[in-house]
Amino acid sequence: MPDKLTLEQRHKCMASIKSRNTRPEVLVRKFLFAHGYRFRINVKRLPGTPDIVLRKYRTCIFVNGCFWHGHEGCKYFVLPKSNTEFWQKKIERNRERDLDRRIKLRDMGWHVIQIWECQLKPKVREEYLQGLLLTLNRIMLMNYQPHPYPQNEEEILSMVAEEG
Ligand SMILES: [Zn+2]
Repeated sequence: MPDKLTLEQRHKCMASIKSRNTRPEVLVRKFLFAHGYRFRINVKRLPGTPDIVLRKYRTCIFVNGCFWHGHEGCKYFVLPKSNTEFWQKKIERNRERDLDRRIKLRDMGWHVIQIWECQLKPKVREEYLQGLLLTLNRIMLMNYQPHPYPQNEEEILSMVAEEG
């Protein structure tokens, strides 16, 4: 029955599209975009290929799955009962990689925000995302460090000399 097969295939296809569009990072992107933020996604030339990069805020955002990235103390991070050691090692490696990319980015002067999948579950999502906006505002204020006003002529001259 070719008709039925086609229908099944189409269902599968639609299901996969749906799951792709509801991925946690897409949620964050849509939210940020709706609030006027502009960003790049999957920036390969930065360590760890950050999911979202807000250049104006000098901020990288990673959206992590709780299982794969080993979200400590999270109910969604439960090691499988079989092959436990294998999974433990694998997730430990992912954690090390996560830490490594955070350190590298911070050394380069980037702020790094990690968002966990569980923070985007429907019941808690709105509150969490509002908090994310506050965090970005704080980062903007931190980044804004005006030059102190020069106190006397000598200082003004030395500043001019430095700039030239
Ligand atoms: Zn979690």
